[in-house]
Amino acid sequence: MKNIRNFCIIAHIDHGKSTLADRLLEFTNTITDREKQDQLLDNMDLERERGITIKSHAIQMDYEFEGEQYVLNLIDTPGHVDFSYEVSRSIASCEGALLIVDAAQSIQAQTISNLYLALDNDLEIIPVLNKIDLPSANPDEVTDDIVGLLGCDPEEVIHASGKTGFGVENILKAIIERVPAPKGNPDGPLQALIFDSVYNSYRGVETYFRVINGEIKKGQKIKFVATDKEYFADEVGTLKLTQVPKKSIKAGDVGYLITGIKTASEVKVGDTITDALNPTQEIIEGFEDVKPMVFAGIYPVDTDEYEELRASMEKLQLNDASLVFVPESSAALGFGFRCGFLGMLHLEIIQERLEREFDMTVITTVPNVSYHAYTNKYPDNMILVNNPTDLPEPSTLNRVEEPFIKASIITKSDFVGPVMSLCIEKRGEITNQTYLTTERVELSFDMPLSEIVFDFYDRLKTVSKGYASFDYHPIGFRASKLVRVDILLNGQPVDALSALLHDSTAYGIGKKMCEKLRKLIPRQQFDIPIQAAIGAKIIARETIKALRKDVTAKCYGGDISRKRKLLEKQKKGKKRMRLVGNVEIPQQAFMAVLKLN
Ligand code: GDP
Ligand code: MG
Repeated sequence: MKNIRNFCIIAHIDHGKSTLADRLLEFTNTITDREKQDQLLDNMDLERERGITIKSHAIQMDYEFEGEQYVLNLIDTPGHVDFSYEVSRSIASCEGALLIVDAAQSIQAQTISNLYLALDNDLEIIPVLNKIDLPSANPDEVTDDIVGLLGCDPEEVIHASGKTGFGVENILKAIIERVPAPKGNPDGPLQALIFDSVYNSYRGVETYFRVINGEIKKGQKIKFVATDKEYFADEVGTLKLTQVPKKSIKAGDVGYLITGIKTASEVKVGDTITDALNPTQEIIEGFEDVKPMVFAGIYPVDTDEYEELRASMEKLQLNDASLVFVPESSAALGFGFRCGFLGMLHLEIIQERLEREFDMTVITTVPNVSYHAYTNKYPDNMILVNNPTDLPEPSTLNRVEEPFIKASIITKSDFVGPVMSLCIEKRGEITNQTYLTTERVELSFDMPLSEIVFDFYDRLKTVSKGYASFDYHPIGFRASKLVRVDILLNGQPVDALSALLHDSTAYGIGKKMCEKLRKLIPRQQFDIPIQAAIGAKIIARETIKALRKDVTAKCYGGDISRKRKLLEKQKKGKKRMRLVGNVEIPQQAFMAVLKLN
């Protein structure tokens, strides 16, 4: 155990974690030149294309230092806020953390939130000033910022570049010298923390764990504590670039486990693995189920594809347990599913995976957060509102509560004004303002989750000219004035266009939605009135004027292939449209409420 080091890499998104991880793997010969590939650990196609790490991954390196052989377990963590729970589990599996800070960007919101997570778990922090090769790097200033944040010596900050490989040897030295070896009792009952799981269509779910006490042996009967299920450890091993089967994984070490589990939901990140016959009495604390934050309906564009969509979602869920869905039906769209996501990025990824991996064309409806509603008749019975149609009639409604978050925003002092105005516009209440340096300020707000899940991040970037970073965590439910704004097309309510909005913004947004829909819905042979309503009260109205001529008219007498091309094009454009009554509604219209500015 004394020659094992478990460490993670934490940073704000894009500060260079994955790139630096690649350099560490190369330097320790964990990967050969032939296997070299950028951001090697991000092995999902989508991860590569978007350049972000979606899942955490672990990899083991062997490294000789001053004549001794060391095992270094590196746990790469996802950087996006939607996946922060996984970061916290990764951190709990380590004794040390490389805190990567971009030498041009300096400390950002997730640098701080991940640092706090690491400090909460008593990790040894090794600060790394990364991207020093950049012409725009500010090594002195950023080192000062890091020293200010950590209270460390400037000499402790390692200068590095994931691009050139500069500093990698110093990082490895620091890991060995500064990160403590794991503690734990190798002879005690098995206690291992699940920090990640990955779905593999051939082998089922692979569980990644860190052994705290005891050992996990091939063939052993084990138990997952939170789910209370027992399995046989069919295969255990260590994670190199490929998996290396072993007879056992001992206290202090990190490994993978295969038990023949076929569904991702059976393996819960944060759960404890123990021996089924001699279970540990200690449960690793802090286990929580991941809760979806954003809900939206997903419907097949072609109503005949409902069963196929269900099968695709079930397959996707096998491999992404954080996706939840239940069947729902909409008067406008027919049969589909109400789905829960960790955030908007997760929603986009699911939609994209449905299209790419399953060839499903889907319509996604207006996302909303989850509300708590109470009626006058049963004021103590909470009704979970994940869908606008679930909100009880206004006349019967006793009260509604909405989820709040604590937001932390780091920006330059020049932008404090605009950032504050934005947060106040979003119903935020400032709770704290701290100057990190003379130029950088951390602002804390209590805000409704619904105001930040959609366009907040883009707005923040705009008002701060890109000099603001943002992080948040939930702080519970608070009373709110919520109304449902319905949209009527041709006098008919279209349930899939309804939105849950705060009373103070409902009128303005209802009006803007009508204007936006007028632009998005294609003109037809007849006038289409668009109305926004709260209950029976119409709050806004627009009209889509009838189309005068046939679109192909101008081609008459002309070249027939041109006409065919035009028709082809229209057909393609129709792919993501739904006919509701006699009005065609394009996908963008369902998301219109999110893009009003
Ligand atoms: P992550 O989100 O923290 O995992 O960041 P990535 O490793 O994906 O890097 C984000 C971007 O920064 C990519 O375009 C990298 O090529 C680039 N990058 C990473 N490290 C360096 C570095 O040391 N120097 C320079 N110039 N670019 C870097
Ligand atoms: Mg990455």
